[in-house]
Amino acid sequence: MPNCHFVTLACNLLLILLNLEIKKIDMLGYYIMIGAIALVSWLVSSRLKSKFEYYSKVSLRNGMSGAEIAEKMLHDHGIFDVKVISTPGRLTDHYNPMDKTVNLSEAVYNQRNAAAAAVAAHEVGHAVQHAHAYSWLTMRSKMVPVVNISSSMSQWLIMGGLILGFASKSSIGFYVAVAGLILMAIATTFSFVTLPVEYDASNRALAWLKNKNMVSQQEYAGAEDSLKWAARTYVVAALGALASLLYWAFQILGSRE
Ligand SMILES: [Zn+2]
Repeated sequence: MPNCHFVTLACNLLLILLNLEIKKIDMLGYYIMIGAIALVSWLVSSRLKSKFEYYSKVSLRNGMSGAEIAEKMLHDHGIFDVKVISTPGRLTDHYNPMDKTVNLSEAVYNQRNAAAAAVAAHEVGHAVQHAHAYSWLTMRSKMVPVVNISSSMSQWLIMGGLILGFASKSSIGFYVAVAGLILMAIATTFSFVTLPVEYDASNRALAWLKNKNMVSQQEYAGAEDSLKWAARTYVVAALGALASLLYWAFQILGSRE
């Protein structure tokens, strides 16, 4: 859902117009579903933000910055070819397997608190997955180029196919829409493959923080809680993608009769 809001809006308007003529697609159900997904994802991400704000005030007993935590965790895992760099923005933290960089947002890179430690260690968790060729990460990386294309094209094909189907009354529209559904299914699979990758990175982060005695009990609880909420945003995204996929599958396959 994050990409192409404008396209979605334009297509929705077209569908509403068509829907006035042909009452075949249940748009009300769709808007209720989209609304519910948007509400849940807003609730989870605002909870995540407030958790991070709260644990940003729990300063680290050992006085280490996110960048220092990341460096130490890399070295403790025998990884010396991954760079830790600062990247602009908020919540922009990520690991880039292409150039082997742990990218930490400015706050995480510089600050010395439980939230920064949690995020830094989580991103290094991805670097450790990469170094060990963790299968879910390998699979996810292989899917990225396909998903970049499929997620932007699926909506066009589905909407285009439906509109073509209504307009021409031929079955070409149906097949175009089914092609869109297949692309949407690939993007949905991708969001589910992301889940073990994210949970595993957090587990590696928390295990390291605990085993190496990097944090106090209170700091550990904060790191665990922040990462738990970060993971939930991925769960909500995956369930939202699945709900949309099922909705369109019922509409398209059901419209065939
Ligand atoms: Zn992650």
